[in-house]
Amino acid sequence: MNPVQLLDLTQEELRSLLASWGEPGYRADQIWGWLYRRFAAAPEEMTDLPRSLRARLAAETRLEPLTPMTRLDSSDGQTRKTLFALPPDGSQIEAVLMRYERRRTLCISTQAGCAMGCPFCATGQGGFARNLTAGEIVAQVLFYARILAEQEQRVTNVVLMGMGEPLANYAATWAAIQRLNDPAGFGLGARAITLSTVGLVPGIRRMSREPEQVGLAVSLHAATDELRNQLVPINRRYPLQELMQACRDYMAATRRRISFEYALMEGINDSEEQAHQLADLVGTGLTHVNLIPLNPTADSPYQGSSATRVRAFRDALQLRNVPTTLRLRRGIDIQAGCGQLRAHYNLEKGPSSEA
Ligand code: SAH
Ligand code: SF4
Repeated sequence: MNPVQLLDLTQEELRSLLASWGEPGYRADQIWGWLYRRFAAAPEEMTDLPRSLRARLAAETRLEPLTPMTRLDSSDGQTRKTLFALPPDGSQIEAVLMRYERRRTLCISTQAGCAMGCPFCATGQGGFARNLTAGEIVAQVLFYARILAEQEQRVTNVVLMGMGEPLANYAATWAAIQRLNDPAGFGLGARAITLSTVGLVPGIRRMSREPEQVGLAVSLHAATDELRNQLVPINRRYPLQELMQACRDYMAATRRRISFEYALMEGINDSEEQAHQLADLVGTGLTHVNLIPLNPTADSPYQGSSATRVRAFRDALQLRNVPTTLRLRRGIDIQAGCGQLRAHYNLEKGPSSEA
């Protein structure tokens, strides 16, 4: 029988497990606190549990679903990317910590690989391996929470912008969000969590009915169907008109602003005319456009736009009163742009205990 993965359990499921072991109900709360508030990495650390219970947990459950393989730190020391292997199949995922002023933002993965096939994206180029479980998603956050706790710091923001399409793995992604948001658990405010989607319309509609008010980012990258069909192939299934209607409905239902991601690619989607098309598409309402020059990947013909073209594009949007931010290319020297999590650089080889 496979051991129970503790991080895959809801608090109710943990209670039932412990009840089936004949343990009093408060033990489940204690263990929950150890997992999500004190970031225990093994049952031995749960020192206020009876020794016999710790031993049973160690024998019959598993706590840590990720094996850190290697890590890369950016030259300014502010960004760290860790590569993990997932037992039992050895799929690999990456998660990135970005320190910025007082923020400690984690960019985490929801799938090993991605099936959406966006040609400019390193994850898309590598194809799809499998969905992550809720425990594997949450474990990325706990891993960094442990490291930050040693420095008396904590995770302030989580963005689901790593490998994979979160809305293509909806149930596990949402279970992970609930675990992170749970006041008795990790306790991160929903507004400190942002989910980025390629634009899966049914998933956006489902999100609008959830009680957790997490931030939503939609990866547009093009303002016409003709171009978006090339850059974001799922656009053929959910074309812009349908996507934008789902976004408007989401904003009406939640009163929350949506961010649109737009990676600027030289000569592809970065002309002033295209800025006007984008302004026409998103309007000046509750929206916001995040511009980021493309992080070029080894296997794609697309290049990031030059600084001059980036500025001209931003100015054109601003003249049209579209709220716009230009994202810094943080961690570019370690290929840590979110969604671009495949190693091009020589990684330090071999397992590392403190990765
Ligand atoms: N699948 C989701 C979330 C992961 S990708 C999505 O597509 O939104 C996170 C973000 O990184 C997306 O906006 C994606 O378009 C962007 N991205 C992917 N490859 C990139 C690259 N090479 N340079 C800049 N942004 C990239
Ligand atoms: Fe998948 Fe997002 Fe990359 Fe597209 S950009 S291939 S949806 S991870």
